[in-house]
Amino acid sequence: MTTTAAAAASSIPMIGSAATSGKGSIVWPAIIVGSGYGGAVSAYHLTANKISTLMLEMGKRWPHRDHPFHPMLTPGLSSIWLKSWNILPFGLNLPVPYYTGVLDRVDLPGKQVYVGRGFGGGSLVNGGMAVTPKRDYFRDILPRVSDQEMYERFYPLARGRLMVNSIDPAWFGRTDWYKFARVGIDQAQKAQFATAMVPNVYNFKFMRGEDEVPNHPRSALRGEVIMGNNYGKKSLDRTYLSMAEATGFLNVRDLTRVSTIRQTKNGEFELSIDQLNTDGSVASSSTLRCQRVFLNAGSLGTTELLLRSRSSGDLPNLVDSLGEGWGDNGNIMTGRAFTSATGASQSSIPVLGIDNWNDPNYPFFAEVAPLPAGVELYTSLYLAITRNPNRGRLSLENGTGKLTLNWPDSNNAPAIASARHLVDRMNDANGGLYANLLFPSGTASGFTYHPLGGALLGSVTDYYGRVKGHKGLYVMDGSLLPGNVGVNPFLTITALAERNMEEVIKDFASV
Ligand SMILES: Cc1cc2nc3c(=O)[nH]c(=O)nc-3n(C[C@H](O)[C@H](O)[C@H](O)COP(=O)(O)OP(=O)(O)OC[C@H]3O[C@@H](n4cnc5c(N)ncnc54)[C@H](O)[C@@H]3O)c2cc1C
Repeated sequence: MTTTAAAAASSIPMIGSAATSGKGSIVWPAIIVGSGYGGAVSAYHLTANKISTLMLEMGKRWPHRDHPFHPMLTPGLSSIWLKSWNILPFGLNLPVPYYTGVLDRVDLPGKQVYVGRGFGGGSLVNGGMAVTPKRDYFRDILPRVSDQEMYERFYPLARGRLMVNSIDPAWFGRTDWYKFARVGIDQAQKAQFATAMVPNVYNFKFMRGEDEVPNHPRSALRGEVIMGNNYGKKSLDRTYLSMAEATGFLNVRDLTRVSTIRQTKNGEFELSIDQLNTDGSVASSSTLRCQRVFLNAGSLGTTELLLRSRSSGDLPNLVDSLGEGWGDNGNIMTGRAFTSATGASQSSIPVLGIDNWNDPNYPFFAEVAPLPAGVELYTSLYLAITRNPNRGRLSLENGTGKLTLNWPDSNNAPAIASARHLVDRMNDANGGLYANLLFPSGTASGFTYHPLGGALLGSVTDYYGRVKGHKGLYVMDGSLLPGNVGVNPFLTITALAERNMEEVIKDFASV
């Protein structure tokens, strides 16, 4: 859905409404780039304060009433972003329609980075796990952010606004759909690992209905997740973004990609944009103007836009540390085969973690991941978040100007050691072998679902996301976080954005 700036400007007679400049073009009080967690929290705070805001999202808006999404084993039009093959780790390169679908993979040297595209960003494709990091680790990675404020105020606030809930233990204990997770608990106990149930933004009452009520629509129990959920999941378009739109102050343009940001001499910003067709071609290009930019294109998108705008001289004052501190959140996937029966029917929503974070030698938090193949595979799958201290640097490649990453293979060594420790100890205690059919070398460390960093808090920005050197430019997304948060990251991105926005909204007092 697209609302024009002109229409918005005429219908919202507020102090913060878009104004017509001397040259006749609209000057928005605020433009948000990207509609993931950073973008959605920014939108919520701006519009709650009656600031007329334009949100630009390069992906497509998918109305839920159309039920457009496909199970991950049978991808369709809405599934993959502008590729003609299935990009999943087990996608076998099978053909898919070339379209502006929701799941993208950006292939950088040393790392394949999975990201969500569409109104709602990563919330459209993620597993919904809403995990709070250990408080002492939070203090390690963000020592200048008050952990008291975060743990007593902003994490609970974020959980509430994201509509996080937990599975009913009694149903978890008996349903066939979570046999794979119950097996995970039994086997972890035998291997003397601790486990933790993990909250999620998927509505578990709805999921129970999928199991127990005849003719109930199915989503998690139909294998839907990383190519979108038609029902059940409280993605951002159903939470923060819907609250922001309800104010009447949010205007959304989807299929709109920002290519550069320029700060003019009078302190305003000019954004160059391309309006995309659903085959990825450019329908038209134009320029938009605003007083403030909230850059929330995700770790890769935000860092790339800043690098590009600095290199073209449009944002010349950005600091040298831009691109530094990038990490994959220690992501690594592994699995065990020829172990216990884990069930032919598996919910696509994970609810269990194996928590070995406090082990000084092999720290990890491993999601016991579903493998909803519809047949019994006697296989357990794990997406581990390891405590990998190695970091890479994002930059623009000489000559081509394309985004690139400095990430030598040796950077993965701590992740591989921790993942092997998990599998070895589980196999020793329970039997089973490495799932070499899925992971020929035993583990898969060449990808990440959790890109973090590039525009670090306190380095590229101040301690509230205000970009240094360019007043009026803000970052609120995962690029602020230093490469590894120890658990799945969206709850931390959301809580930190809540904290930052509460502060930077005061900057508008002078408008
Ligand atoms: C398959 C998968 C599973 C995951 N599971 C979990 C999980 O269970 N729990 C968890 O905590 N995390 C999970 N994550 C990670 C989580 O989704 C991300 O950490 C989170 O979405 C990052 O939020 P963000 O605000 O930084 O950016 P994003 O959510 O990535 O949003 C950025 C948005 O900006 C848009 N954009 C980018 N460039 C431009 C541009 N130039 N112009 C306009 N728009 C642009 C993008 O299309 C995107 O919509 C998962 C991720 C994936 C891919």
